[in-house]
Amino acid sequence: MRACSVADLTRLADGLTQICVDNEMLLASCGGINVHRRSLVGVILATLLVACAESPTTSSSDGTASQRQLASSETFEWKLVMSWPKNLPGLATSAERLAQNIAAMSNDRLTIKVYGAGEYVPAFQVFDAVSSGTAEMGHSAAYYWRGKAPILAVFGTVPYGMTVQETNSWLHYGGGLELWREVYAPFNLIPFPAGNSGVQMAGWFNREINSLADIQGLKMRIPGLGGDVFQRAGGVAVQLPGNELFTSLQTGVIDATEWVGPYNDLAFGLHDIATYYYYPGWQEPNAVLELMVNQSAYDSLPPDLQKIVEVAARASNQDTLDEFTARNMASLNTMMAEHGVQLRRLPADVLSAYRTYAKEVLDELAAEDELSARVVDSYRDFQSTVSQWHAIAEEAYFDIRRVNDES
Ligand code: CA
Repeated sequence: MRACSVADLTRLADGLTQICVDNEMLLASCGGINVHRRSLVGVILATLLVACAESPTTSSSDGTASQRQLASSETFEWKLVMSWPKNLPGLATSAERLAQNIAAMSNDRLTIKVYGAGEYVPAFQVFDAVSSGTAEMGHSAAYYWRGKAPILAVFGTVPYGMTVQETNSWLHYGGGLELWREVYAPFNLIPFPAGNSGVQMAGWFNREINSLADIQGLKMRIPGLGGDVFQRAGGVAVQLPGNELFTSLQTGVIDATEWVGPYNDLAFGLHDIATYYYYPGWQEPNAVLELMVNQSAYDSLPPDLQKIVEVAARASNQDTLDEFTARNMASLNTMMAEHGVQLRRLPADVLSAYRTYAKEVLDELAAEDELSARVVDSYRDFQSTVSQWHAIAEEAYFDIRRVNDES
């Protein structure tokens, strides 16, 4: 690294000249070798320049390097609060791996202690805890925070909306993440997509759903816009954190619940208290797990640690999906083979009604305010374009693969 700037050396030259002018003894010494004082200074400077150019030092003219060096020795000990029970496979383990990766990549300059739901704050107080700075980080899903801004539901998932691949494309290359950050900014939060379940299951029921009539009055735990749709279809949508699902279903507080998919649901033991496991997950064609960071805390990090947080979240976003995709089918097989779970597809009239209501709730959400309209427009525009591509890419490919599988 070049350490001395021309500006530094010019200042030094001026200083040396002034010393020669002011100090007759030094001037005499200069004159003793019959060199014009200005030339002598030039010789000294040339020597300094060579020395500076060859010297690998960490100081610099603008102080940036020294500031960076100072920052690099600073350490941060943060808290991450989750909306999931500690160690829950797929969700909590994702957050824990994320924290470990950040510590490893930063050489322990940023260490993060991870708290399960209820350990530091309750599941549904993650947003407030991070917004206020009580914890620096949160791991949750944006549709839990509709009470803060209704449009946040879209950043969790949209019924009949985009798949995980499409959603990630929208977030990272379609302006979605910028919009999400705009919605979070007034709360002193910055969000990062940090995991995804892929297509979820439609949920657990203790009796079969044969038509829309079977939905009427059914009390089901189902969050986000999916809950609004379910409500319109005649059901009663209840919002409960994951750690209350088992007891609520077991004691009859709710009649049915959706949670995630086989990998997660098996770990929760939902197969012990419900028999019918329905698909497809119309209500959550993907679910974005969020890493939310207190903006002030994030701003206090040096740039390299900020980048580590960003890149670790991006890696976690893919890694979590990989884990779900790898584990789901084996978990479903275990449920069916060892626990008597009955797999069912939702009937066509139910799915058709849900589809109609899904459009209505998104229309109404767009009418909330100007920012909500922009988010919904952006989401719908992207889905429209990307689905045209996927009709000739993913969908066409699944079709030919299925035919080949069956032949
Ligand atoms: Ca779910």
